Amino acid sequence: MKDPVHKKQEPQVCTRCASHLAQPQDWLRMDDSTWQVTVRCPECYVRYDVTLDQDQVNRLSYALEGGFQQLLEEVDRLDHEAFEEDCRALIHALRSDSIYPMDF
Ligand SMILES: [Zn+2]
Repeated sequence: MKDPVHKKQEPQVCTRCASHLAQPQDWLRMDDSTWQVTVRCPECYVRYDVTLDQDQVNRLSYALEGGFQQLLEEVDRLDHEAFEEDCRALIHALRSDSIYPMDF
């Protein structure tokens, strides 16, 4: 289904459920200033094609980069939490003499 996105509507906003997590699945340049983009929403699973101008494609690209950055920051935060938990467990094991040669 082709569905032109209104100029003021952000292409990362799902046209069905208004989620801000809609993601491009495929990009096809139609001419110098127009793109056909296949978008999929991870929340309602709708998939549709939209026609975007260059400004909308640029904003979508920046939104994707922002989303990737948020994911990387969250991975770093979770990794740091896991490392702290591992350190706490090791310190507890050392203090309670719970580490034996066969643990290695
Ligand atoms: Zn949706």
